[in-house]
Amino acid sequence: MSSAATPAAALPDCLYCRKDERLHALMIEVATLQVSTLYLFKEQTYHGRCVVAYKDHVNELFELSDAELALFMQDVARAARAMKAAFNPAKINYGAYSDKLPHLHVHLVPKYVDGPAWGTTFTMMPEPKKLLADADYAALCDRIRRALTETK
Ligand SMILES: [Zn+2]
Repeated sequence: MSSAATPAAALPDCLYCRKDERLHALMIEVATLQVSTLYLFKEQTYHGRCVVAYKDHVNELFELSDAELALFMQDVARAARAMKAAFNPAKINYGAYSDKLPHLHVHLVPKYVDGPAWGTTFTMMPEPKKLLADADYAALCDRIRRALTETK
């Protein structure tokens, strides 16, 4: 059953399922993809950083059917392609951890030569945090949305 059709009270106590203030504190919805949602991560040490979260409350790639897995990875690749077009990072890092938040999601972290953590593992929540003004978040979201359309 898709999470969109499930009454909020029946959803797991999970920020990706409930899309509540815990989620809004961390990220901003950019677009709905085939089987996932693309978010801009508010902490922007890595310029253009995003998250792709699967639509349902499963935690492992191997829990998906082959067809769902293919759609999810297409979503991840499409988001990364748009980020490359929007921000031109040297590389995008892919991080799927979920030790303590059991809902399948992938961090898409743009890396820049000589930028933060170039050549090594990105930091999940850098300190000090690089947070932006609302208008700057909106501009980043717009660039990604435009790139999603243009690189389709
Ligand atoms: Zn969930």
